Order: sequence, then structure tokens, then C-alpha cells
Amino acid sequence: MITRRQMTQKLYYDDAYQQEFQAQVLERVTVSNGLGLILDQTCFYPTSGGQPHDQGTLNGIPVSDVFEREDDGAVVHVLGGKVEGPVLSTVEGPALNKGETVQGQIDWKRRFDHMQQHTGQHILSQAFLRLLDAETVGFHLSAEASTIDVDKAPLETAQLDEVEKLANTVVFADRPVRTYFVDQDRMRDLALRKQPMVTGPIRIVEVEGFDFSPCGGTHVKAAGEVGPIVITKSERRGSETRVEFLCGGRALAHYHRQRRIVGELANQFSVGDWELVEAVNRLAEEAKRHRKELNALKDQLLDYEATRLWAEAEERGGLRIVRAVLSEGDGGTLKGLAQRLAKKEACIALLGLKGDTALLVFARSADLPHDMSALLKKACQIVGGGGGGRPDMAQGGGSVGDRLEEALEFALEALRGTYQ
Ligand SMILES: [Zn+2]
Repeated sequence: MITRRQMTQKLYYDDAYQQEFQAQVLERVTVSNGLGLILDQTCFYPTSGGQPHDQGTLNGIPVSDVFEREDDGAVVHVLGGKVEGPVLSTVEGPALNKGETVQGQIDWKRRFDHMQQHTGQHILSQAFLRLLDAETVGFHLSAEASTIDVDKAPLETAQLDEVEKLANTVVFADRPVRTYFVDQDRMRDLALRKQPMVTGPIRIVEVEGFDFSPCGGTHVKAAGEVGPIVITKSERRGSETRVEFLCGGRALAHYHRQRRIVGELANQFSVGDWELVEAVNRLAEEAKRHRKELNALKDQLLDYEATRLWAEAEERGGLRIVRAVLSEGDGGTLKGLAQRLAKKEACIALLGLKGDTALLVFARSADLPHDMSALLKKACQIVGGGGGGRPDMAQGGGSVGDRLEEALEFALEALRGTYQ
């Protein structure tokens, strides 16, 4: 709501810097999250236009939520925190009844932060409009970041840099920020960035000579107070772009965080921060090379291990059966070994990996007739699990790791039966 004639006099319209006030209780209302008070005047800004509500106290009692009542625009102050149940009993005390006077105090740190972000948004939105002809179609201010949605996509980094630069030029020039009400006739003479959502006298926020917007929020009195404006992220959303930005104290906190991260990394690499990207790239290249070398060594080791197992395996009727239990490695090691053994002539591999659970891989040379999948399924029942695969290669497992040897022995016996 932007009109002036309302039940609660909105002190933040006339002076966004007023932090304390006295008011009379006009009405007590029960709301879902507690008791609500309606006062004859207030400094508490209710959630609206993308700006979150103020916090603070009324007679020392925390105000947890502030909103405008839909039908008459009265400002409702919710007391006692967002708790379920009978909040009434805790606040049904002196000096909060109808007609009584209350002392209000807003959380200034929170409010000023909102004023910085909100005024910064006006400036940034106008910069987008001037440089890229991109209109702001959405604004959201949260505890961590502020975003605007502009109706243009995609946007290049260089374009965002230009917008950021123009916005900060306005800040450095410290242009005054004024708010005033105008009627419909006067409004037509102003180059408004967007059209008002309400009729009647309209509250205009002007960043002198730069931006004219209808707005009911709270703003700083000069652009310099916004502090630095930085764009931290942009994300394409169809034909729009969501732009994340930070102003003033938030921009400074962001800078401190980045500086700490960069400083710690530069320390770890023992380089200057300007050499950091190169150092990280070097490390990534090195890791890639090491991974390659490691894989080659693993391959060599598996080749060697397969040859050893094959040589040590018993040979009967021209068939070699390799039965082995590994205590180290993973499914990949087991499979790699089985594949190598299956490439040898007339060979069957019955391999297991011992751990809390049992892992089994059975494989055979392509020229043999045995069905590894059927054999593995039966063996896996012994370790309390299952598995499957092709006739020449199958894998599975079970949760009873202790019975792995038994499962392999069963498979070996079953195979002996086929050639004895
Ligand atoms: Zn505004």
C-alpha cells in the first residue's frame, strides 16, 4: 500500500531514520502466530514490496512479525515470537491493552541494512534500464542476498560489469534520495521507471536526476550511504536473468569472506593471490597425470597378479581353475582380475573379496561351456545374497562375509563334478 490515508500513521514514510516512538494501542488482534497489536502510529516497516519487515520491541517485548492488514492497511505487530500455543498469557500484561501507550524500538542494524539493499536496488535497476534496456520485473531481499529479475537474457559478464560500474558512479556522486507524494497529474510528468500498483496519491522515491520509482519501502537519504554495490551472481531463467547483488555492509562482509578464502589458499600454495589460478590449474594437471600413472600401475599389478594366480592354479583335464580370496581392493579390482584370467586359455576364475560383506566374481574363457551366472547365483545364496550376469562372467555378493570361503569351495566342488 502506498497511499497515505490509513488507520496507522506510518512514521517510516516521513523519516526512515526514526528508531524510537510512542504510540497508543488501537486494537488487539489474534493472529496465527501470536498476539497482534495495531497502533495509531509506528516505525515498524511491514513486509511488502520485496522488503522484509522490521524487528524490535514494544514495551520490551520482541516483535517477531509485522504485516499490513489487507482490508484497511493497518500495521499489525506480532508479539512474542513465532511460537505455537497460548502466547496470549505471556503478553496479557500491563500497558498493552487498548488505549494504553507503548514504547516502540526498532532493530536499527537490520533496518539500515534493508535501507542500503533497497536503495541500492533502485539504483541498480535504473542502471540496467539505461545501459541494457532491461526492465526489473522482480525484487527479493533475504537475510543473505538480494536479487532482481530483469527481462533480458543472456547477459554477458562485461555487460554486468558496466551496469555495476554505473550504479557505483551514482553512489560515489552521493546523489540525494528524496521521497514525496504526488497526485496522478504530477505523476505523468515524471519519468517513472515502473508504473504504480495503486491509485490515489503516489509515493515517489527519487534518486536525484537518476531514478524515479513509486515505492513504499524505506531508503537511505543519499546514495553514498548505500556503500558499494556488487553483483555477485547471475543466472539465466528463460527470457529473464536473476541477478544477485549486495550493497553496503553486505558487500563489505562479502569482500572480507572472499579475501579470507583467497588469502588462505594463497598461503597453502605459497604464492601471491594473483598467481592462485595458475597454481590451482597446475595442481589439477598434476592430479590428472598422477591418476593416469596410478591407473597404469594398477593395470600392471593386475596383469602380474593374474599371471601368478594362473600359474599357481591346479590343472585338471586341460582346465585351470583359479580360486582366490582377496582381502584388499574393490569390485573393480576383482572384475579386472577376472577379466584377465578369462582371456587365458581354458581358465575359470572364482574370485572373492573378503570384508564385512562378501563380493564374488566368476568368469571363464570364451571357449568353455560352463554357465558362470547359474553357478554364481547358487554360491551367493551361501553368503545370503544374490547376483547374476552372463554365462562367461557374473558378479554378486551377500551380507554374510564369514561364509565367503565356503561359497567358493562349493563352486569349486561343483565344477570338479563336471570334469571328474
Ligand atoms: Zn524502494
